[in-house]
Amino acid sequence: MLSRLEYSNSDDDPEGVMEQSTIKAVCSSIQTRARAEVVTSDSLIDLDDLDNGVMENMTQRQWGSMQAQDRVLRPMITAIRDARKPHRRNLSLEQSKLLRYFDSLVLDQGVLCRDSKRNGECVRQRVLPSVLVNKVLHYFHDCVGHPGRDRTLSLIQDRFFWPGMTKDVDKWLQKCPR
Ligand SMILES: [Zn+2]
Repeated sequence: MLSRLEYSNSDDDPEGVMEQSTIKAVCSSIQTRARAEVVTSDSLIDLDDLDNGVMENMTQRQWGSMQAQDRVLRPMITAIRDARKPHRRNLSLEQSKLLRYFDSLVLDQGVLCRDSKRNGECVRQRVLPSVLVNKVLHYFHDCVGHPGRDRTLSLIQDRFFWPGMTKDVDKWLQKCPR
């Protein structure tokens, strides 16, 4: 069993978190591409709107609902609700990657979160459904002036968690044309 501390990010965040208003302002100019929608219990979420900052305004219920539609996250949500750790052999590869973090996962108002220690402080990160991974990478890198690797990772880790996020950030930056 790996401890959550081994996965904690220890990078500094000298510039502080970029203001949400700045991010929204920068992102408001992003043009939408192919339409994609996810149905939640509250309403239809237009994934393209998420580029424009809607993600910050999604309700807890919408988050929970989006997570419940994710086939990797769904069994973890059930397991936490039942307070029963799933057995690895019953899980897919992607699910067992998330299982490593099971002890740090919590349900906060129905939203699957991970409690992470960052710079000595506890940060409650929302566990990101895979449908939102590219949105988040786009939003917290392309839309905010192409910050460096550590800064991009830090902006994301202040809010979200998914297994392999560091690798995904690295890949995103390698493919970045700027
Ligand atoms: Zn870039």
